[in-house]
Amino acid sequence: MPKGFAPDTTSPTPEIATVEALSADQLKVNTIELENFRLKLPIGFFFNGRRLQQFSLKPLTGEIELFIRRKMKARLDLHVKFAQLFSQTVETIGDCSVPELARELSCSPEQLFQRMWFADALSILLNMRLAKQEGEKIFLSGQCPQCQRMTKDDEYTYHDLSQLEVNVPQRLSAPAIAYTLDCPFNILEQGEDDEAHMARCFHLRPLKLFEAQKLFSTGDASPGLTSLLLMYQLVCHLPGIAEYADLKGGIMNDDLYVRMGERDRRQLIHLSEKLLQWGPNLRISMECDNLMCGYKWEQAIPWGSLETFLLGLDSPA
Ligand SMILES: [Zn+2]
Repeated sequence: MPKGFAPDTTSPTPEIATVEALSADQLKVNTIELENFRLKLPIGFFFNGRRLQQFSLKPLTGEIELFIRRKMKARLDLHVKFAQLFSQTVETIGDCSVPELARELSCSPEQLFQRMWFADALSILLNMRLAKQEGEKIFLSGQCPQCQRMTKDDEYTYHDLSQLEVNVPQRLSAPAIAYTLDCPFNILEQGEDDEAHMARCFHLRPLKLFEAQKLFSTGDASPGLTSLLLMYQLVCHLPGIAEYADLKGGIMNDDLYVRMGERDRRQLIHLSEKLLQWGPNLRISMECDNLMCGYKWEQAIPWGSLETFLLGLDSPA
């Protein structure tokens, strides 16, 4: 078994292994510059007891370029677009070719990518951009929050994408984190002393690609409500109460939430937000070019327009 892989436990699909979970107290996340984390997935595919993180990309051929120009403008959902794109451009994951890995997991290559972690998908996208000639150069523009002046990169003041930071969780043998409740509670409305229905621990897993768009486009939801809905999405298992899942196939819902203690509610939401930070931080430090101001802020990387981002039409006008 290659060095650095987890011991042999079974996690048959990119879905969650339901028993293996690292305790939230033992969670360690390293922050690594993208330059030193090239062609690696921050979370990875968990398959046959291994965590597959290394991947390779096909060269950016004219065919792939045309595919990006013609197909990536379509008004498709983000996960569909990414899955189509990665099916064309990712060559291997771990030591398997993409079709091999998909076959092993009984799905198509597109399904394989649709179900992948959002953090991993963003990493593939960034690596595709970095693989291009001078792909690390990016020209940003943004309005200074202090003096409102527009600051725009030019050929001297471009930013370097390879300096983005990536948060990489360590020691995972499955993509799941266990949170032990301070105040265990009964999941049924009646039966206070019923041991078989006592919730003592929840498992949470990272956000999947196909869930991301839905979560971030919840219109007028406040940040607090979005965090709550994120937590509902990420809670993936209630150990010891195997049969429990609500009608929508999820675990967490309003009925359970209202039975939890205040500290547990807060901690679960906090842990979900920490899980959402795994993967690349898509913000880069920008400095106001008004010398009297010089304010620094974190500017978002404009990756949403895939054609421009990947093929680099973002040179200074
Ligand atoms: Zn300013």
